[in-house]
Amino acid sequence: MARYTGAVCKLCRREGQKLFLKATKCYTEKCPIERRNYPPGQHGQAQARRRKTSDYAVRLREKQKVKRMYGLHEQQFRNLFERAAQQSGVTGENLLVGLETRLDNIVFRLGFAGSRAQARQLARHRHVAVNGVVVDVPSYQVQPGDEVSVRSGSKELASIQASLESRTRLEPVDWLVADDKNRVGRMTRRPTRQDIPLAVQEQLIVELYSK
Ligand code: SF4
Repeated sequence: MARYTGAVCKLCRREGQKLFLKATKCYTEKCPIERRNYPPGQHGQAQARRRKTSDYAVRLREKQKVKRMYGLHEQQFRNLFERAAQQSGVTGENLLVGLETRLDNIVFRLGFAGSRAQARQLARHRHVAVNGVVVDVPSYQVQPGDEVSVRSGSKELASIQASLESRTRLEPVDWLVADDKNRVGRMTRRPTRQDIPLAVQEQLIVELYSK
């Protein structure tokens, strides 16, 4: 499975909103969405003017938006969806909770990384531990009560320091508590839909995959 290596800002422009895929630029006036909020490519502007959206296209775009936000491949996203569908409760909510409790997302929300991509790299490079044990799998599902920390030899990494300094940009969530000084955080409880600050319509994704 090839990972997308093109300009990530194009992904935001395609979806017509900020997906916060970069560590710093997203929070500045340099964000291309501020100046060119239309799809990328030679015909992007014209496309935006005459675009007719079918029901299918609306559902597809919602799925692409969430998938890109969390940086997943189609198969990874699909697997997560199928797991969510097998659980009790509302499938769309289960899906979002599954995405939010991934280790890379927790590292990002705790402020140890400026983006989910950076958080994924921290985990892959073995800078992150869960309950004191190094975990290098970004998709690892963090459970309530788990402690997520930066490994002792990595606490002074410049990228972590920079991310913590800009942490205030993130919308706070009350199901995570962080100790910035010691680079440690804990998931106090499993989040519900209301605890996830994302403007997405997860029901559209359920409808897309249920066809
Ligand atoms: Fe998206 Fe960030 Fe690029 Fe803006 S700067 S288009 S939010 S990745």
